[in-house]
Parts: sequence; C-alpha cells; structure tokens
Amino acid sequence: MAMGPRGMSRGYLTEEEKANRPKVTLPLLKRIFSYLAPYWKQMILVLTFIVLSSIMGLLPSVLTGRIIDEGLINRDMRMLIILIVVSLGVTLGANLIRVGESYLNNWIAQHITYDMRNKMYRHLQQMSQKFFTTNNQGDIITRMTSDISGVERVVTSTFTSILSNSITLIVAVIIMFRENWILATVGVLVIPLFTIPTRWAGKTRWELTQDAQECNDEINGILNETLSVSGQLLVKLFGKEDYEYDRYKNVNYRMISLNLKESMAGRWFMVIINTFSSVGPMLLYLVGGILMMKYNSDLTVGDITVLVALLGKMYGPVNSLLNIQVEWIRSMALFTRIFEYYDMPVEIKNSENPVTPAHVEGNVAFKNVEFSYDNERKILKDINFELKSGQSIALVGPSGSGKSTIANLIPRLYDVCGGTITLDGADIRSLDLAWLRDQVGIVSQETYMFNGTIKENLLYAKPDATDEELMAACKKANIDDFILKQEKGLDTMVGNRGLKLSGGEKQRLSIARVLLKDPAILIFDEATASLDSISEKKIQDAINPIIESRTSILIAHRLSTILAADEILVIRDGVIAERGVHADLVKAGGTYTELYETQFYRPEEENA
Ligand code: ATP
Repeated sequence: MAMGPRGMSRGYLTEEEKANRPKVTLPLLKRIFSYLAPYWKQMILVLTFIVLSSIMGLLPSVLTGRIIDEGLINRDMRMLIILIVVSLGVTLGANLIRVGESYLNNWIAQHITYDMRNKMYRHLQQMSQKFFTTNNQGDIITRMTSDISGVERVVTSTFTSILSNSITLIVAVIIMFRENWILATVGVLVIPLFTIPTRWAGKTRWELTQDAQECNDEINGILNETLSVSGQLLVKLFGKEDYEYDRYKNVNYRMISLNLKESMAGRWFMVIINTFSSVGPMLLYLVGGILMMKYNSDLTVGDITVLVALLGKMYGPVNSLLNIQVEWIRSMALFTRIFEYYDMPVEIKNSENPVTPAHVEGNVAFKNVEFSYDNERKILKDINFELKSGQSIALVGPSGSGKSTIANLIPRLYDVCGGTITLDGADIRSLDLAWLRDQVGIVSQETYMFNGTIKENLLYAKPDATDEELMAACKKANIDDFILKQEKGLDTMVGNRGLKLSGGEKQRLSIARVLLKDPAILIFDEATASLDSISEKKIQDAINPIIESRTSILIAHRLSTILAADEILVIRDGVIAERGVHADLVKAGGTYTELYETQFYRPEEENA
C-alpha cells in the first residue's frame, strides 16, 4: 500500500487550501490543455503505453490461476513451464513498457514546464518597476520555481495516476466478474472495508503531524525570542527567567505527547491495514470454498487464487483514486496561480506605432507632470522644466521630495499620471521603448553588479567593446588605477552583487559602465551615504568633465556636484519650489539656503 507519511500529508487539504479552493471552469481547463496540446502525439503514445502496461500488469495474476489448475493440479509439466515462461515474459514486457511510459511522461512534463518557465520569465521581464517594488521577491521566485515544478508533478503523476489506476481497476473488475460473479461481488463489497479505516487512520495521523508542526513553530518562536541577544537581555532585565522557562517547558511537554501519539497512531495504522487487508482474501476463500463444497460450483482453486490476486492489485489504485480529488484541487490551484501571473497586464509597453528617431539631440522637457505610485498620494505635482541638449540640471531637495522619481520617469520605469515628458519634442510614450532606454543612462545610488568579473560587468553595457575601450571608460570614470592595481586586472571578480568592492569603487565602475553605453542623456543619482573625502573626490573628478560634455540630470547632495550644473531645481514635496543658480538661490533665503546650511556647506569645499 503506497501510503508513506509523505503520501499522507499530501492526502488531505489544509484549511487554507480548503478556503482557497479554485473554481474549475471550462476556460481554465481549456487553457491548461492548450499547454499540453503541442505534445498531443507523445500524449497518445503515453496513453497507449499506460493502457498496455495496466492490462499487462494484471495478466500474471490471471495466469497464476491457470498455473495452478492446468499445470499443478493437472500435473502437466509442459503446460506449467509454458505458463511460467509466458507469465515472466508478460511481467518483463509490462515493466519495459513502463520504462518507456515514464521516459515519455517525463519528457512531456519537462517540455511543458520548459515552455511555461520561459513564458513566465519573458512576462516578468516586461513587468514594470512597480511590480517588483510592490511584490515580495520571494513570491516571484516561488512562482518561477516551485509552482512551475508543481506542474511537472501534475503531468507526471496526477494525470497518469488517474488514468492508469482507473484502467487497472476497470480491467480488474471486468476479469473478476468474468471469472465468477458471486466472488467478484464479494470482492467489490469488501473494498470499503480496507479503504475506510485506511483513510481514517491516515487522517488522524495527518492531523497529529499538523499539530506537531504548529507546536514546533511555537517552540522555535520562543527560542528565537528569548535566546537572541536582545531578547535574553529583556528577560534578564525584567527577571522573567522562571516565566519563560515554564512557557518553554509546557510546549516542550506538549510536543513529546504529540510525538508519542503520532508514533502510536502509526502502529495502529499498520495493525488496522494489516488486519483489514487480510479480511478480503479470507472472505474470498471462505465464499469460494462454500461455493465449491456446498453448491458444487465449477469454480477451481485457480479461479479463487486469481480473484484473491486481483483483489490485492486493487488496494493501491482505489486508495490513490480516493486521494485524487485532493491532488486535483491542488493542481487546479497551481495552474490558477500561474495563470494569475500570466494575466497581469504589462503596464509599461510600446505604443501601437512606436517611433524610432534616426538621431537624438537630447532635449528633455517636463510639461505639467503629475505622478503617483499608488494613484492616491501625489508624489509629483505640476513639474515643468526644460533640459537643453548639452546642458545639465541639478535636482536638490529634502529626502523623499521626489527627485529620484523625476529621474525614473525619463526612461519610463514608470509612466506619468498627468502631463507629458518629451524627448526632442516627441512624447516619450510615442517612442520605441527599447530605443528610449538606450538613450538614457542612469548611475543610481544603489549600484548593482552581477557576480562576475569587472570585465563581464562592463561588457553588459557594450558586449563588443575591446579591452582598450573598457580601460578608456575606466580612465574617464577614475577607476583605472584601481583596476591596474589588481592582480587580475579587468578579470578581477566583483563578488556577489559587487560586495567585494567598496561603495566608491562600485560607483565609479558603474559610471564607467554607463560611459560605455554612451547614452544621450545621463542621470547621476548621487549616493547619500557618506563616502570618505578621497573617494568622493575621485567620483567628483570623474563626473565633472562628463557632465560638461553631456545632457545630464544630477540628483545632488554635494555642493561640488551642484555647482557643476547649469541650473538648480529645488524640489520640495513634489513641486519645484525654487530654481536658478547657486548664488541667487543662497541669497533668496528659502529651502535652498536651508539645505545649503545643513547639508551642502563644507568649508573645505568652499575654499577649494
Ligand atoms: P532621496 O533623496 O532620499 O533619494 P528622493 O527625493 O529621491 O529622496 P523619491 O525616491 O523620488 O525621493 O521618493 C519620493 C516619494 O515617493 C517618497 O515619499 C517615497 O516614499 C515614495 N516612493 C518612492 N518609490 C516608491 C515606490 N516604488 N512605491 C511607492 N512609493 C514610492
């Protein structure tokens, strides 16, 4: 009986699963089928294999009857050998077919999940920044990995198990009735006798496991709370040692009683199954004996053996089919969850007829731009400014005022909620998205590096760049000295997310990366985190000449960066509160003056 603890835990629905039972509709089934459809030829072959192997799997049981009657009882040696050979041959054949079936089955499942995974990945790539900031990263990865792997299980086991078990059952019942209808009826009636207790025992054990799990979580909770650095301190300072000890002792005791119950339930489970599985055959022998001895039926010893053997072959399929409903609900829930992701609309996409301009000047204009992340709180209100090709603008303002948001709107990481942003006079939403993003380079506060070498990270921006080009960009970004000092030079590993580099090195490397991309518009989101003055100066020396020759937006926190810009926009609470050049703004005595006095002003910079 294939019902280990794993089988059991999968045999019942949790409360959560019961509450979220998916609605099975025709469109859902059609949609699932559309993923299977491309493999219909293989599926037909699998189906044939399943039918063949199920029938052939039962044949040896039928042959046993003839071995007994025609071979042994008739004392016919030749017949006995033939039947034994045929029986062994059929068993071998059935098993060989199962090998083919399992290969094909896995092949189909792997191909379906391959298609689904690729589709999911492609879809997720197109999702907006908003999707990634609002959804839990763990959830996204779970959809990609375990949910789609679940589909694999559905195809290899759920669908096949429904089919092969049903066929085995039907064929077994037909053969039984052809052998002897009275015994067959007894056999069929006896089935609930072993399925009901099995299910009952399984359920009890499953519930105990769930309780034990809960108890275990509670224990972990207590340990985490009271044995952590700050937790134990709290316990000590409030003198709660005895209280916590009692709490721990109580759950701990509950745990051992649950464990004891669970292992005993396992024992009882075996007793019940063993008893009831032998009741069936005994009943068949008894009724068969009565028919043979009292009613002179032409039933033979072989016939009774066949019926007993067939009954034995029915336990497994009946139990699996009883679990099928649970498997089915889970599978449908799985597909529903995956489809929910597929159906999430792509928010930022190309317009119907996207324009790809032949060349770009780099004039950016914001006209009455409004923006909100959640359609409730307005982050930007009526933003108007123009950035002429070759010029640079510094955005300054208190933290959270909306500076990075302005920058994110230009490559369409988000779309405006009102107003327009134009590039060389054209609404950016009418431009080809890939082209637009090609024109914009962002050096963000949090620089991201893939785990690889410096060279690989740089080539991400320009795959065909030569080492000379890479080093030239690094020189401009003021990171060449660092690279030359490394033993492996450009082939130095940056570590996971670039963790082997300092903040300043990472920033300069990402400046080099953007320079390789050579965008028409450069956005530099200056890190607020304090770097030491040497690192800062290196970045400044890198960025200042670049700004001079390029259309750029600088989100600035340091005076030297601000001074390098042609115009300063002071953002406060999502509006442009002040604008102008440094000297005028300082004199005006508004937000800028405040920021200058609290943040930007550093005597050493002023003197320099
Ligand atoms: P800082 O100087 O600290 O980087 P900032 O001026 O660049 O700040 P933004 O990052 O543009 O500020 O954020 C403006 C406002 O929008 C903040 O109140 C922030 O909480 C909110 N915000 C930023 N990103 C998101 C997001 N993805 N979803 C929802 N709200 C966001």
